[in-house]
Amino acid sequence: METAARQAWEIASHFLWPSTCPICGRIGSDGCPSCLDGLLLEMPKRCLWCGGGFFPCGIQSHTTFLRAGTWHEGYARELVHLVKYSGHRRLAFEMGRALARLYREDSNVALVPVPLHRGASRSYNQAERLARGMSEEWGVPLVEGLTWKIAFPSQAGRNAFERRALPRGVFRWEGPRLERDILIVDDVCTTGMTLLRAAEAIREAGIPVKGAYCWSVSPVEKLNVTWKEKTSVD
Ligand SMILES: [Zn+2]
Ligand SMILES: [Zn+2]
Repeated sequence: METAARQAWEIASHFLWPSTCPICGRIGSDGCPSCLDGLLLEMPKRCLWCGGGFFPCGIQSHTTFLRAGTWHEGYARELVHLVKYSGHRRLAFEMGRALARLYREDSNVALVPVPLHRGASRSYNQAERLARGMSEEWGVPLVEGLTWKIAFPSQAGRNAFERRALPRGVFRWEGPRLERDILIVDDVCTTGMTLLRAAEAIREAGIPVKGAYCWSVSPVEKLNVTWKEKTSVD
């Protein structure tokens, strides 16, 4: 949904934050394709429900994969911080395009970004910007149909909450009844709980969830913290 207000904001922000590639410093670039592509590596699909095991894992109901573009470290991590805390919304869009260049997807999917939680101070949702870039690259629709049912005081609040295991029912699907397979999009996967709860909410609305894409994923040893015990779909 590109409103006139949003377009006006895009133009204003161009002057507030002149384009410079954060990786090579090139002026007039929000993130060069070659710079962004160079940060990504093709990673295997993991099982979202098992918490990072192989996909497919062999359990029949586990039909949702998790895939990231890179590890959440170094430059890839710094870019996420620029997007989250320094207002680089166009960089997020370019990161989404890079992620979509790395992987191929069917044309019958729809992208659903993890929503910005209530109480967030940011003027835009970085997951939506990422998904927007992917949507344009793949030529598939983006649907903002998920809403949070609980409030977090801050982004740090969400992370702390996630580490303690996000309860069931934190999301609700309020979008249309889609005839497409859903791909959930988020910037970072830390424990995977947010994506798991999002997938549950969409499934409960009777819509199949094919997978989840993130720009980056925490190094393997940080996955699986409380994940397996909390899975409720077996
Ligand atoms: Zn560059
Ligand atoms: Zn599994």
